[in-house]
Amino acid sequence: MIRLDEGQCGLCVHFGEEHPSEPQLVQMRLRHEAPEQYVDDCGVEENHRMHLRVSAISGCDLFEPAPDR
Ligand code: SF4
Repeated sequence: MIRLDEGQCGLCVHFGEEHPSEPQLVQMRLRHEAPEQYVDDCGVEENHRMHLRVSAISGCDLFEPAPDR
């Protein structure tokens, strides 16, 4: 497991935005930690259009905190 900090994809509302109830995603946000190899879709429109996949420890300026953290 890797520790997640504010600003990283695993704690962003756009990470796995199409399936926010996914158990691993829920646990990630509760515990602020993620499996090392965890990747998911970024739901920001332009990224989603090109099927961008990012790791839980990635990040960008469009970070928005997930409400269930
Ligand atoms: S790439 Fe940016 S907008 Fe997409 S999930 Fe990661 S922090 Fe959020």
